[in-house]
Amino acid sequence: MSLFNNTLAQIEKAASLIGLNEDVLHILSEPQRKVEVSIPVRMDDGSLRLFEGFRVQHNNVCGPYKGGFRYHTQVDMEEVKALSAWMTIKCAVVGIPLGGAKGGVVVNPKELSEGEIERLTRNYVRLLEPVIGPDMDIPAPDVNTNAKIMDWFADEYSKLKGKDMKGVVTGKSLENGGSKGRSAATAQGGVYILDEFLREKDIKPEETTIVVQGFGNAGETAARLLTEEGYKVVGVSDSQGGIVCAHAVNPEEISSCKTDKSSVVHCGDPADCRRVTNEDLLELECDVLVLAAMENQLTKENAPLVKAKYILELANGPITPEADETLKQKNICIIPDILANAGGVTVSYFEMLQNADNNYLSEEEINEKLKEIMVTAWQEVKTNAEKYECTLREAAYATALGRLEEKLSEL
Ligand code: NAD
Repeated sequence: MSLFNNTLAQIEKAASLIGLNEDVLHILSEPQRKVEVSIPVRMDDGSLRLFEGFRVQHNNVCGPYKGGFRYHTQVDMEEVKALSAWMTIKCAVVGIPLGGAKGGVVVNPKELSEGEIERLTRNYVRLLEPVIGPDMDIPAPDVNTNAKIMDWFADEYSKLKGKDMKGVVTGKSLENGGSKGRSAATAQGGVYILDEFLREKDIKPEETTIVVQGFGNAGETAARLLTEEGYKVVGVSDSQGGIVCAHAVNPEEISSCKTDKSSVVHCGDPADCRRVTNEDLLELECDVLVLAAMENQLTKENAPLVKAKYILELANGPITPEADETLKQKNICIIPDILANAGGVTVSYFEMLQNADNNYLSEEEINEKLKEIMVTAWQEVKTNAEKYECTLREAAYATALGRLEEKLSEL
């Protein structure tokens, strides 16, 4: 089943739970616009290469399209369609007035120089220019894209329009109109919800062991924030493999070691930590497994072997529908992506508001507003889980679909 069909299956499951209007389901079953581009890039050796890129605008009934773009070799139309639909749902779960979109380019940025990545980004903007804009579609960072890339994006779009239009993209650097707290927001939002979830179960941070898959933007920040709160992060991984340690790791040390040595597998105290494969990391004994890498990490093959008690999905779609069913039967509770990682888009929304008003908030103010939105969404999802006697994932979809149905009925 394609990733987009997985998404539709999740939507349909929740739709039948709440008796969603058929027309609403029909509208959500296909993106409103799909753009495919061939991006020419002059390489450093003088040759010209074409890169395949996408932007999918799923639905804008709640507000302008919003969603990141990624640079990755696995990007394809089905993946981008799925990610765009999740953005529509995610914005509706947390109740912010934005729609869903996503973009991507088929490329391994590690094989490109900085100049080549800049030219790729600028040429991607030129091709997308007719369908994006601060009131139309506002991209943001995702896998392998960052504040520097967002700054090039904003600069190129402003040049095309002949005026400052930095509001076309969020996740920019602070010097260029970015929001305080944006780079940590995805992880921070998830941590606020995990805190609530565990507090309600009377489980204390210092009694909680955590394993983090994917030591990138979301995962590394989550490891740092969780450690600051007293949780014990005992395992981490990246695309090259992972480490598991008898005692909690220091995420800041792992970060600087990763910068020096390119992967977490070379990090941690050798007397305390051992190297594990990416497959083994997912099967470690721990209280909470944080999935912060890519889609489809837990499948019907490895889900039966998961030993974590709880899963926090910071990545989008890290669990296939079959694995979801297996984990449900094993009583492993999942805090789903569309709720857990919505902090990123929420602070992106704050960035849009700050750019429009030219009035910038402190990190404390941003985090206070973020917490309020995340905790409110968590309470709504929990209420729906009790009302419909369903999983948190189904309840999060039910919450979002209820809002989308209301908006669509105004059309
Ligand atoms: P990133 O590129 O910064 O980090 C991804 C990390 O995962 C890297 O360290 C990479 O080495 C690692 N990885 C890849 N394959 C792996 C594997 N099989 N096992 C272990 N590690 C692996 O990307 P990111 O921005 O942190 O995004 C991660 C996930 O979070 C994605 O699903 C993304 O869509 C989602 N997300 C990100 C944001 C955001 O604001 N950055 C917002 C919402 C959702």
